[in-house]
Amino acid sequence: MAQSLNPSIPKTVAVVGAGTMGAGIAQVLVRHGYAVLLRDVSREILDRGAVKVAQGLARDVEKGRLSDADRKQDLGRLRVTIDWTELGRAEFVIEAVTEKFDAKAETYQALERQCRPEVIFASNTSSISVTRLAAATRRPKKFVGLHFFNPVPVMKLVEVISGLETSPETLQTAEALARSLGKTTVRVNDFPGFVSNRVLMPMINEAIFALMEGVAEARGIDDVMKLGMNHPMGPLELADFIGLDVCLDIMKVLYDGFRDSKYRPCPLLERMVAAGRFGRKSGRGFYECPPS
Ligand code: NAD
Repeated sequence: MAQSLNPSIPKTVAVVGAGTMGAGIAQVLVRHGYAVLLRDVSREILDRGAVKVAQGLARDVEKGRLSDADRKQDLGRLRVTIDWTELGRAEFVIEAVTEKFDAKAETYQALERQCRPEVIFASNTSSISVTRLAAATRRPKKFVGLHFFNPVPVMKLVEVISGLETSPETLQTAEALARSLGKTTVRVNDFPGFVSNRVLMPMINEAIFALMEGVAEARGIDDVMKLGMNHPMGPLELADFIGLDVCLDIMKVLYDGFRDSKYRPCPLLERMVAAGRFGRKSGRGFYECPPS
């Protein structure tokens, strides 16, 4: 599929972090005509990321959404590397490394040494302040949040987050890039949890309180929200899908950010995480689930 002809949109994008999100973002980028430089800390992780991209494109061929010739061309635009210097060619950077401030700040330091000063850095963070991340770079005006959703090839939304210093041009370029990938963008200011997690996570947390207090069984709580509110997944199923450790981290970000007791993490959520019941990724959460 050809990308937008808008000349202000970059053509070569570095994606740093080849995990769940980085691989998904790389897949969508190559599918829309971008050249992608995918970086992670080891060859093994990169190879796994490249396999995920290849499998995603192969699925598009199976479903008749992509020809085999285009699949080959798309894959040919993906380059995986552990060498930072190669990222000097990037015209735009999307950072999708582990959700830890220090890991991201280290990544920006390495990127600052390679990337030209006009290159925009976008973070896919789901909860860390974009303003705080921007302050860890030397280009806060050229820093923005681009919050993709999992699975990236399927989910339509991208929250485009302005930090305190983000320039209007940076915001427009980031938005144009996300739209060129067929995504719908929503502009959001930099507050804890942005819109998505500020609304979603307290609902999940409240469902866990309801379970802890014995208001209903897990299945009952999920059925109420699915059948009564038309949600495609119940909040507890969704928590298992997202990862209970991730849910807890985000509740902590909301609680620390607002210092309001309405965001206190449910003690049952804390206990489940302490016990290693992370949901699908560990095989057990509110439900017994096959590891994803
Ligand atoms: P993940 O653990 O699957 O992948 C993170 C990757 O970052 C790992 O492969 C790790 O090796 C790599 N990494 C760490 N330090 C690095 C460095 N210095 N250079 C290069 N790579 C490095 O995590 P994920 O779920 O893909 O999340 C990545 C980001 O996306 C996080 O900020 C997360 O909050 C955000 N996010 C996740 C989801 C989700 O549902 N998983 C949704 C939206 C946003």
